[in-house]
Amino acid sequence: MKVFITARVPEEVLARITLEHSVEIHDEDQPIDRARMLKGVENKEGLLCTITDRIDKEVLERAPGLKVIANNGVGFDHIDIEAATARRIPVTNTPGVLTDETADLTFALILACARRIVEGDRMTREGEFKYWAPLHFLGLRVSGKSLGIVGFGRIGQAVARRARGFDMKVLYHSRTRLDLSQEKHLGVSCMPLDELLREADFVTLHVPLGPSTRHLIGSRELEIMKPSGWLINTARGPVVDEKALVEALRHGRIRGAGLDVYENEPELSPGLAILKNAVLLPHMGSATIETRTKMALMAAENLLAGLRGDRPPNCLNWERF
Ligand code: NAP
Repeated sequence: MKVFITARVPEEVLARITLEHSVEIHDEDQPIDRARMLKGVENKEGLLCTITDRIDKEVLERAPGLKVIANNGVGFDHIDIEAATARRIPVTNTPGVLTDETADLTFALILACARRIVEGDRMTREGEFKYWAPLHFLGLRVSGKSLGIVGFGRIGQAVARRARGFDMKVLYHSRTRLDLSQEKHLGVSCMPLDELLREADFVTLHVPLGPSTRHLIGSRELEIMKPSGWLINTARGPVVDEKALVEALRHGRIRGAGLDVYENEPELSPGLAILKNAVLLPHMGSATIETRTKMALMAAENLLAGLRGDRPPNCLNWERF
C-alpha cells in the first residue's frame, strides 16, 4: 500500500515501513507546508504524521482511501478525531515512551527557574563571574517547597515521583481523582484548581489540550497564584493565555515561568522573549535519541497494524467505530 510520512524519521523506522509498503516522505526538518500536505496524502492508505501537522477534514477529503493515521507524538489536539472516526479511520499516538523525558524536562525547568541556571551560564560566558560573594546569585530553594500538578496522568505522576526525591509537598488537580491508596502510595493530595494555585510554590501543567483546557490558566488564575510562585508549562501552549502570562510576569504578579510550549508556536507573544523571569525552551520535552527513536518505531507499528486492518496497539478511537 502507499504511505505518506510528513517528517523525517530514523533510518531503521523508514526501513521497517518500506519493507512492506511504498513510501513517500517529506524528508526535511522544516514542517511540511499545507499545499505539500494536501498533495502528499492523495491516493495514500497510510499517513504517519507529527504534532505540527494539522489533520482536518480537508486533509481527510483528499485521501478517501486512508486506512490509518499514525501520529508520531502523544498529544493529538492537531487531529480532527471526530472527522476521522466518522470515516472509520483509526487514529493512534505514542503514549508512555516519552513520559520520563517530559517529566525530566519539567524538573530541569523547575531547577533552571529557581536556581537561575540560564542567567548564571550567560553571565559566566560573558566574563561577569569576577568573584564569589555571599549574597551573589541567590535563587530559591526547591527542596521542601510545594508543587502543584495540574493534570495527573502519565507525565503528571512521573513529575510527582521525581518531586519526592526533593522532599516536596505534592498537590494535584485532575479530571479524575486517584483512589486513596494510590494517593497515599504517591504521597499526594488532591484539591480544586483554585486551592492548588493559591498554595503551590511551583505550578506545573500536564493536561492535554482540548476545549476544557484551552486557557485553563488565564489572568484570573495567575492572579490567584502566589506572587512568589512559578508557572511551568510542558503540556501545550494554548493551555495558558500567553498574553495574560506576559502581563503577569511583566508586573511581577508571579515570580516567573518556565515554558517548553507556546500558544502560537514557534512564535512567542510580544514581550515574552525579553523577560528575565522566564526560561524558554523550543518544545523539546521528548527530545532524547532514545525516546524519539522509540516514538517513531511505535508510530510505525501502529501504522502497519492499521494497514493490515488490525486494531493498532495505541488506537485512540477504535471503540467509537
Ligand atoms: P495523560 O496520561 O492522558 O494525562 C493527562 C491528564 O490530564 C489525565 O489525568 C486527564 O484526566 C487530565 N485532564 C484532562 N482534562 C483535564 C481537565 N480539563 N482538567 C484537569 N485534568 C484534566 O497524558 P500524558 O501522557 O501525561 O501527556 C499530557 C500532555 O503532555 C499531552 O497531551 C501532550 O500535549 C503534552 N506533552 C508535551 C510534550 C513536550 O514535548 N513538551 C511531550 C509529551 C507530552 P483523565 O484521567 O480523566 O483522562
